[in-house]
Amino acid sequence: MGTAEVELAEPTMLGWLSDYGLDVEYVRSSGNTLFAKQADGSEKPVLDFAGGYGSVLLGHNNPELVELARELLADGTPIHAQFSRHPYANRLANELNAVLHREFGVSEPYYAVFANSGAEAVEAAVKHAELDRGHRVRAVVEAVGSAVAAARAAVDGGALVDEEAYREFGVASGDFGALADRLVALAGEAASRRPVFLALEGGFHGKLVGSTQLTHNPGYREPFSALARPTRFVALNRPESVREVLEPERVWLREPVVVDGVVRLTDRELPVVTAFLLEPVQGEGGIREVEAEFAKEIGAACEEAGVPVVVDEVQSGMGRCGAFFASSQIGLRGDYYALSKSLGGGIAKAAVMLVRGKHYRGDFELVHSSTFAKDSFSCTVALRALALMEADGGRAYRVAAERGQRLAGVLESIRADHPDLVLEVRGRGLMLGLELRDQSGSANAAVAGQAAAGMLGYAVAGYLLREHAIRLFPTASATSTLRFEPSLHVSDEEIARLENGLRDVMAVLGDPVRGLV
Ligand code: PMP
Repeated sequence: MGTAEVELAEPTMLGWLSDYGLDVEYVRSSGNTLFAKQADGSEKPVLDFAGGYGSVLLGHNNPELVELARELLADGTPIHAQFSRHPYANRLANELNAVLHREFGVSEPYYAVFANSGAEAVEAAVKHAELDRGHRVRAVVEAVGSAVAAARAAVDGGALVDEEAYREFGVASGDFGALADRLVALAGEAASRRPVFLALEGGFHGKLVGSTQLTHNPGYREPFSALARPTRFVALNRPESVREVLEPERVWLREPVVVDGVVRLTDRELPVVTAFLLEPVQGEGGIREVEAEFAKEIGAACEEAGVPVVVDEVQSGMGRCGAFFASSQIGLRGDYYALSKSLGGGIAKAAVMLVRGKHYRGDFELVHSSTFAKDSFSCTVALRALALMEADGGRAYRVAAERGQRLAGVLESIRADHPDLVLEVRGRGLMLGLELRDQSGSANAAVAGQAAAGMLGYAVAGYLLREHAIRLFPTASATSTLRFEPSLHVSDEEIARLENGLRDVMAVLGDPVRGLV
């Protein structure tokens, strides 16, 4: 005690934040405001458009959720009661099912596996899909074995064998025993093939050992590529790309069938692709919407190949885009959903993975769990957050859409006034992005330098914080796209303040000498 503290909690990041004036300490938060500590000890309100990168759709420290949290703790809610009945978790699973059934017009149950973070929910989905694939692979190998046994019996009983079958495997005509052994051996070898994952270019699914390989950004992925299976990436919104990438990965085994007393060989597909992962609106990839036509092609191709679709709604979901599931707005039904961020109402760390009943494997429950998941606190807070979203016939979804339109209108007017600086405004609901044009050739040397270093978005963030007390950030993998994810409470005045700040940024970018940093 008494020794001076040194920076041990990610000092490199802190140093980097300080270069941009982003190393402020927030001491309080409420609604759309974070309060920054000033040198004289006072608090400065900062208008927040980063919105915890999507986790505070209901506002920072939503009063109803804070009150609930207080009550839960005061009443001694059992936060650590693993291996017991969890009615709150079951209720949450049921409520999420009700929303899912309504938005997708389906009635099949989805089972729920709980987690603590977005990446964990994604990994739980991938693990479940791989467990399921393993079961399906074994069933295929068994089916080939049974077909071979049936053919052997038929040949022993006098059935003929198509000569083409011997030729295909280079086996001497008439030696059905040798051919049968080859078919069984090939099925066994193929079953040990390593799995394949498909995901979208620009996608972001987390930074854990598995999920970082599903995340497209090479900076996050490549240093750790030896730790997990590589992913095949499909080009966003290019429908042809789905089958171009999927088809070469598909594997067929050969198995005998006996038709009219003749043994011939036929195909049986071996499932090698564990899952296709995608976000309905990419967040970290620069706020890019998956188009309905593209989603349809993914659904059709995956259905045909028996590949489950994992819809990562960690950022886009929980009402942010104007429906609880952004995927429901483009008719993209998932076999799995990953939910987190705003699920915990901005108070609890909560995540859940939903898996479609027809794929569900109860044995997964024995091999996946976390000390902290499925607890009474996070589930009860999430239940209330969901109730707030669903209240008044889903008023929150309509507010997200309406507020989003208002904000998008303002961003669009800035783009229209500065087409030389702003490339595009994208997104829907309260998940919006404004992409700056490449400024590396700017007449302003400071701006050109930041742009060339890929840091212009962060320089803009630092400037807005310092000059306008506005907090926002670029998306993690597309750093020239500014991201706007405020809460439902964002007011016209707050949007006007943002407009003022962004218009000032445009003035700096268009000025040959003013700097941002
Ligand atoms: N998936 C998506 C779509 C995300 O946006 C994120 C977080 N940005 C994650 C997964 C990972 O979530 P977490 O940071 O909670 O692990």
